This record gives sequence, C-alpha cells and structure tokens, in this order.
Amino acid sequence: MLELPTGFRDFRQRLLARPDALMLELGAGGELLVAQIRAWLSLALLALPLANQLGGGALWESLAGLSAVTVAIVCSQLWLALARRRGRYGWLPWATTTYDISLTTLALAGLATQSPPIALNSMVVWVLYPLSIAMTALRNDGRLTLYAGALAFGQYLLLVLLVFQLTTPEQRISLEYGTVTVSNQVQRLVLVLLMTALTAAIVYRMQRLVDLSGSDGLTGLPNRTWLVHRFQSLLEDARREATSLSVCLLDLDYFKRVNDEAGHPAGDRALHHVAQVLSEQLQPGEILARLGGEEFVVVLPHPLGHAWERAETLRRTLAAHPFVDEPGEPPRRLTFSAGVACWPQDGSDLSGLLRRADARLRQAKRAGRNRCLARDD
Ligand code: GH3
Ligand code: MG
Ligand code: MG
Repeated sequence: MLELPTGFRDFRQRLLARPDALMLELGAGGELLVAQIRAWLSLALLALPLANQLGGGALWESLAGLSAVTVAIVCSQLWLALARRRGRYGWLPWATTTYDISLTTLALAGLATQSPPIALNSMVVWVLYPLSIAMTALRNDGRLTLYAGALAFGQYLLLVLLVFQLTTPEQRISLEYGTVTVSNQVQRLVLVLLMTALTAAIVYRMQRLVDLSGSDGLTGLPNRTWLVHRFQSLLEDARREATSLSVCLLDLDYFKRVNDEAGHPAGDRALHHVAQVLSEQLQPGEILARLGGEEFVVVLPHPLGHAWERAETLRRTLAAHPFVDEPGEPPRRLTFSAGVACWPQDGSDLSGLLRRADARLRQAKRAGRNRCLARDD
C-alpha cells in the first residue's frame, strides 16, 4: 500500500531534494506565470518616472527612472522568452529569483541614498521581498524557496547594517516615514523568515498533493494521470533529440483466478508483487505505471526491436518470480501478455500508441497468452 511519510524529517528531506521530472514540469509552468507577472509589473513601473515628471520632479530624476525601468522591461521580456521554452533551462528559476530579490535590494539601496527612512520604513518596495519568496511556491522547488529566503534575509541585513553605519541618527528620522529603529528592522527580518517558512510549508503540501494525485494507491507506482501528463514532455524530448520512444501495454494472464481462488486481498498483494518485481528490473529512463486493474504500461526509451526485447526480459523475470502470499503456501506463477508500440510509426501520441499496443496485446492473448508482440500479424 502507498504510504506517505509525515513529520519534520520528511518535510526537511523533501524541501532539500531535487524535484522529480513531473514536479519540475509543473514548476516550469509556474516559472512562466511568474515571468508574465514580472513582465506586466515592469511595464507598470513606467508610471513612476511619468508621475515624477508630471508632479514637477527634476528632469534628470525622471530620465534616470525611465532608463532603470527600460532596463527592467528588457530583462523581464528576456526572462519571459526563456520561460516560454518551458523547463528547458534548469537554472532559470534560480537566476530569476536572484534577479527579483537583488533588484529589490538595489531599488532599496537607491532609495536609501536619497532618504534612509523611505528605504527602510516604507513598505512599497520592501514588499517585493515577501512577494518574490511567495512566488517561488509556483516553481514547486523547496530548495528555491529556502534560497530566496536566505538571499532576501542576507541582502536586507547587509543594507540595514550599511545604512546604520553610514548615516547619522538625524538622517534616519522622517516626519512622514518615522524613525528607522533597530526593532522595526528586526521585525522586517523576522517577517522575511516567517514568509520563507510559510512558503516552504506550501511547497511541501503541494508536492504531497501532486504525489497523491499521480500515484496508484495500491502499488505506489505512477498512475494513468501521471503518465498522461508526463508522456507529453517525453514525446517533446524524443522529438527534439530525435530519440526513440516505445510503450509496452501489459495485462496479467488469468488474473481473475487469483481473486477467485485466493481472495481479493491476496489479488491485491499479487499486484503489489508484480509492481515490485517489474520495478526492480527497470533500467534508467524506463518507467512503469499502473493504468488500472491488472494492466500496466512500461515506457521504454528504445526503438521497437529493443523495446520488445526489454518487454520479453520483464515477462521472463516475472514468470521466474512466482508470488508467495503466505510462507509455506505454494508459489503462484504470474505471467502477462503484452503489446509493444513505437513512436512515431505506431502512433503520434500516447492514446494512439496505447491503441496500437492494445491491439497487439489482444492478439497476444488470442495466440495463447504469456508473450509479447510488437507487430500486427
Ligand atoms: P486474461 O488473461 O484474459 O487477461 O484473463 P483475466 O482473468 O486477467 O481477465 P481480465 O483481464 O479481463 O480481468 C482482470 C481481473 O483483474 C478482473 C478483476 O477481478 C481483477 N482486478 C482488477 N483490478 C484489481 C485490483 O485492484 N485488485 C484485485 N485483487 N483484482 C483486480
Ligand atoms: Mg485486464
Ligand atoms: Mg488479465
């Protein structure tokens, strides 16, 4: 049975772990969303130099503001173009998070040179720190959240120390923004830490939900939902890198008998046994998923001939590892019949490939079961 671990140890391990392929793919969708928000925000910043000019501010100030905003717009469009290539660049979320937080610090530092109380007491720019940290949740990577929190904390602490070092107490007082005090700066640093902890908890819970919705409860294998989602990007990879991709659809032979003779719970344990034996045989890049009932799919990054050989190896291995429910009970030999189909000649997408594989599987059943077919006879 699938068991999801709980507790602080699991929380810590999961946050520090590299997300799996599906999580990274979901995170790539989040990165695109963040890039779109950033692009709109950068455009909205154009209002600032405009307002400065209309409000009677100095021309040089408006022009400096306009140049800074133009750079921000160009950068945000660049990030957007890279994010549109969904997940192609693993470093992108790290670079954009560094950019978002460092830009916030730069803006605060610029403000501090004009007026320390505006920089350290006003919320308007500072709020971009917690926003940037919160947006790491959309990338589904706990390590990124912790990095964002640590970067914001470190950079802001440095800025506060510099301001206290380089300014006089009088310069840190403002009628409108109040006095810059150690205690209100400590509060801000604590807020950064709290936001990081909260975002990390959200990432953890999201990852658990994705795991739950993509796992088969009985065997712990990826389920149909997971496969449908994941296969899309496997196909894109195969297309881009001109590699092969095959699917093997397998159905256990005479499985009803196991239920009829040993009972449904024993049938469940037999399915678990099959999942375990087959999983242990998988090579790098191969994926085993449970479609439902006693039907499984093996995704094989091989051309048809090699995929068929791999399916045959799995079939022989399962036949050589009979299911023993209770110690002392006679072993029960389990076999399967399978149909193998290869992209692109047998289908252009998962459902097309599975249709062709299913036709071959039914042929294998008709031909006497316990065999794999990769051709229509
Ligand atoms: P065939 O060789 O033609 O495939 O024969 P079969 O007996 O395996 O027939 P079929 O594939 O049509 O039936 C599958 C059976 O698998 C039906 C059901 O009793 C059993 N089954 C499906 N899902 C589960 C499950 O989750 N647990 C258990 N214990 N049995 C299941
Ligand atoms: Mg069946
Ligand atoms: Mg069957």
